[in-house]
Amino acid sequence: MDNLDDINIRIHSYESAGTVDGPGIRFVVFMQGCPLRCKYCHNPDTWEFNAGKVVSAKTLLNEVLKYTAFMKFSKGGVTFSGGEPLVQKKALLPLLKELKRQGVHIAIDTAGTTNIDDDTLGILNNVDLVMLDVKHIVPYEHKLLTGLSNDKNMDFLEALSQKNIRTWVRWVVVPDINNSIEYANSFASLIKKYSNIELVEILPYHKNGIYKWDALNIPYQLKDTPEPSKDNIEEIAKVLEKQGIKTLYSC
Ligand code: SF4
Repeated sequence: MDNLDDINIRIHSYESAGTVDGPGIRFVVFMQGCPLRCKYCHNPDTWEFNAGKVVSAKTLLNEVLKYTAFMKFSKGGVTFSGGEPLVQKKALLPLLKELKRQGVHIAIDTAGTTNIDDDTLGILNNVDLVMLDVKHIVPYEHKLLTGLSNDKNMDFLEALSQKNIRTWVRWVVVPDINNSIEYANSFASLIKKYSNIELVEILPYHKNGIYKWDALNIPYQLKDTPEPSKDNIEEIAKVLEKQGIKTLYSC
């Protein structure tokens, strides 16, 4: 077995009682480093690979295990978010195996921007739930929005299906980028092909993280983009539900 004391993991921070990153009450680890540059990112302070702080996998394990009573009581668990947690998949894998061995429910919140290699498959063998961001289904538009094409995201979606992993898809709805009814229909047609996708979480774009962009002196390109209306979100939800897709949203 790997010695968790010898494995370093770079994190931004963690939160012991998260309620929006998966079912129940969750210990949420925000991992440091992300290859994407989403125009609406509300955590740009997680982007840099060498920032944040380094902790051992054993330290993280011990932190998580302090909260197992809450987790069990609320049917929660641990969520690895970010940043992009799969940037550190090699280091995460032994920790996930140990958490699984100890019966902790494990979720990852990812954009799936990684190769499907042995480490990725190892991670998928140990998670209970994947929350996958599908930022745009058109490669060119995905690149405009995030800086990278969506080929890895689509391969990841396929890998989740092949391994029949319980998946929640997350869609951040941004006016003039991915909020039309036509787009919602195309999105629904893609999603309904995958029986492992339990629901689509519709997240209205918001500007709450803009102060972090200012603090980091990074120009915020969506400052003139409005937040989507309640009607817009409800219309999109209706399109998905009409195609038999369960939705989760609040607006
Ligand atoms: S994937 Fe997440 S952390 Fe990375 S840039 Fe996009 S929104 Fe930010």
